[in-house]
Amino acid sequence: MDCIFCKIAQGIIPSKKVYENEHVLAFHDIQPAAEVHTLIIPKKHIASHNEWDTVDVALLGELMLAAKEVAKITGVTESGYRLINNCGADAGQVVFHYHIHLLGGQTLGGLVPN
Ligand code: AMP
Ligand code: ZN
Repeated sequence: MDCIFCKIAQGIIPSKKVYENEHVLAFHDIQPAAEVHTLIIPKKHIASHNEWDTVDVALLGELMLAAKEVAKITGVTESGYRLINNCGADAGQVVFHYHIHLLGGQTLGGLVPN
């Protein structure tokens, strides 16, 4: 499948890895919108939030726990951070492999990715 984040998950395209476990990978966004801007993805291809199914409910939990680890690793646990998922055209989703943006490291105000 021609999916850039699948290729990152498989190591075919390089990324700046922040965290990885069996099911999840987190890496720095290539065009950071904040001092800390990390993307957290499932290794399994899920195109968007609309594709989540009950069979993947454990994977959803893995992503949330990975986000907590990423916050710790990037040093924003106490200072605060924002988790965002863009779903579909009106939200400006560009990459159709599910990802959570973790933004932090500065006062965010109304800042959102893209
Ligand atoms: P979205 O608009 O929510 O689909 O966000 C896609 C994000 O992926 C954007 O913030 C891009 O900067 C980021 N991105 C695209 N290609 C790469 C890449 N090769 N490595 C890291 N981040 C990427
Ligand atoms: Zn994919």
